[in-house]
Amino acid sequence: MKYDVVVVGGGPAGLAAASAARKAGAARVLVLERNSYAGGILKQCIHDGFGLIRYQQMLTGPEYAARAVREAVDWGVALKTDAMVLSIGADRSVCAVSRDGLHTYEAGAIVLATGCRERTRGAVMIPGSRPAGVFTAGVV
Ligand SMILES: Cc1cc2nc3c(=O)[nH]c(=O)nc-3n(C[C@H](O)[C@H](O)[C@H](O)COP(=O)(O)OP(=O)(O)OC[C@H]3O[C@@H](n4cnc5c(N)ncnc54)[C@H](O)[C@@H]3O)c2cc1C
Repeated sequence: MKYDVVVVGGGPAGLAAASAARKAGAARVLVLERNSYAGGILKQCIHDGFGLIRYQQMLTGPEYAARAVREAVDWGVALKTDAMVLSIGADRSVCAVSRDGLHTYEAGAIVLATGCRERTRGAVMIPGSRPAGVFTAGVV
């Protein structure tokens, strides 16, 4: 399967990139998301305040995610959930596994929008005790 742009990760960054690619004229754009729903970390952010700049509305994280998904789909982006990208080849092939098997996509361009993950200081091998009073977003 051939796509002009394949976006890995259906969080807010991936969805925005996919919509932007369509708006810029890319004919076939695919987002591959490993979870069952797109939206990324926004689904955990149940407080409001999202969307003020982009949509001029107070939205919770899930509401913002739903908007971004709808916008991408309305722009004709193909969104495939439950699809975990396993590898990317030097020839811009993207290999993903989903319930219907292993698929390889040929991409004109690839956008990596896989987010990031908070890890403990132990995991990143910084010695010492945890700085008191410092909280990551996930901890809060
Ligand atoms: C508790 C908490 C509160 C927050 N509160 C705020 C706030 O108030 N305001 C604010 O602006 N920001 C807030 N943030 C930060 C905001 O949620 C992130 O900045 C934003 O979600 C990052 O978007 P992203 O698309 O880069 O990554 P993510 O949202 O992490 O999305 C990445 C996506 O990529 C997918 N993915 C990863 N690897 C693969 C793979 N191999 N194959 C397929 N899919 C893959 C993941 O499943 C995920 O859906 C908060 C974060 C947390 C944790």
